Amino acid sequence: MTHRGGSALRMSSSWGERTFEYSLQLQARRDLVITVHPDLCVEVLAPESKSLDVVLGRIEAKRSWIARQLREFEGQQTFAPHRFVPGESCLYLGRQYRLRVERTGQGVALQGGRLVVRVSPKAGPERVREAVVGWYRHRARDVFERRAQRLQREIGLLSGLEWTLRVRQMQRRWGSCTARGTITLNPALLQVPPSCIDYVIAHELVHVLEPRHSPRFFRLLGRAMPDWEKRKGRLAGVACRGWDEVLHAPEDAKCCSQSASAVEEHRARAVGSEQSAVCEWRARGQ
Ligand SMILES: [Zn+2]
Repeated sequence: MTHRGGSALRMSSSWGERTFEYSLQLQARRDLVITVHPDLCVEVLAPESKSLDVVLGRIEAKRSWIARQLREFEGQQTFAPHRFVPGESCLYLGRQYRLRVERTGQGVALQGGRLVVRVSPKAGPERVREAVVGWYRHRARDVFERRAQRLQREIGLLSGLEWTLRVRQMQRRWGSCTARGTITLNPALLQVPPSCIDYVIAHELVHVLEPRHSPRFFRLLGRAMPDWEKRKGRLAGVACRGWDEVLHAPEDAKCCSQSASAVEEHRARAVGSEQSAVCEWRARGQ
């Protein structure tokens, strides 16, 4: 059952398809306050003088509000640049890792579910940022080359193509291909699932055969990767985050760019993500 006092109760509720957890603390207070934090934690402080049924009833009445705040913060998280603080979620090949900062030694490594960054005791967030971004860049070349080689081995249409790889951060593109067969890939792609990385690489490799997005291009792409549209759809839904002020959430894999207005909109939304959403009831009238 429930126990009153200092410790918080772990509760869960749902609204529509959405289930969420919240902590409930009963205190010597008059108001009931629900706070939804940007890290998606939901906290409720409630008067201990009220029966639990009454408290839960008031929380239930606010489920749609809570679900809406959670959805908004999720949207902001999707595009807000990384802050490189401990506990922050980092994506690598479509999986989430928590950032852990250790103040000893140096280097970056995946350990269990964590992305561990070792920096000197005095290093600030900027140094952590450099280490993490440098690690992604370094990994990018290796991962992209291996995956491209595998695609070329497995897909007859792509085998034997000559091209060179360049890894470069781009604001609005996952990748591009020049007429001379230089394929540039965005290291931010390392955040997405491997099947989506393969789609971008296949798309650019097909450009070596056909530079324009002509009907021939899409015929060739369909032959090389019959389920490319499914992968492209999945890529568009990946919650990538930027590493700098620059946002890396391109909509499409290739030589066309995302519209600037969409980027601006996400940037504007990201600005507000520091503040929690608070819903407060006055004790009066209850
Ligand atoms: Zn293209």
